[in-house]
Amino acid sequence: MIVIVMGAPGAGKGTQTDLLARNIGLRKFSTGDALRRHVKAGTKIGEQAKELMAAGNLVPDAILMELVKEELEAHKKDVVVLDGFPRTLNQAKLLQELRDQKAVRAVFFIQVDRAELIKRLTGRRTCEKCGSTFHVDQSPPRSADVCDHCQGRLVQRPDDQIASANHRLTVFDKETSPTVEYYEALGLVRYVDGNKGVDVVYQELESKLKESIS
Ligand code: AMP
Repeated sequence: MIVIVMGAPGAGKGTQTDLLARNIGLRKFSTGDALRRHVKAGTKIGEQAKELMAAGNLVPDAILMELVKEELEAHKKDVVVLDGFPRTLNQAKLLQELRDQKAVRAVFFIQVDRAELIKRLTGRRTCEKCGSTFHVDQSPPRSADVCDHCQGRLVQRPDDQIASANHRLTVFDKETSPTVEYYEALGLVRYVDGNKGVDVVYQELESKLKESIS
């Protein structure tokens, strides 16, 4: 079974899907994280994705489908929560071809105002070593620029810088709206107010998700 969590960059998809994985044992797959691992490891996929990601552009669908196919094959029996995929109508259609019609059980869309998204993205700091994220104002690390969990160095992702962050939001609006409409037509979309604090958003998401998959 597949559950999709959608939302603009900075909407909190990563944080919320981490909590779903930790609290109710769902298998989380983030295409952004998978691509960043490839970039870090210097693989062929990483080489192809690196520049596009840094500029805030989308990586070609063929690469995404390769990653998602591999993940779904390896976790056929799990409830897989997809974070950051599909982002385009074509990806949504390709996912449907990969799995039968009923595989996608629910699509959650976390809605956050644009001004708040910019604040979250540009203030985000990411650990170079373990990938944990902090926010300079909203969830600062105990010691500036040092990860609380592994003492790795905290850096700003190139695509969280203001120009790239703005561009990502524009790309998101353009590419993702038709994808949401596609799932709307299938009656699968449920909206979650993402402007509130992490715990409040999580409660709403978890209860709606439990209703959808029970
Ligand atoms: P994220 O961590 O989800 O914000 O993704 C970071 C970047 O990875 C995006 O800005 C894209 O460059 C790339 N990416 C992640 N998921 C996708 C996707 N489904 N389709 C195309 N590009 C993606």
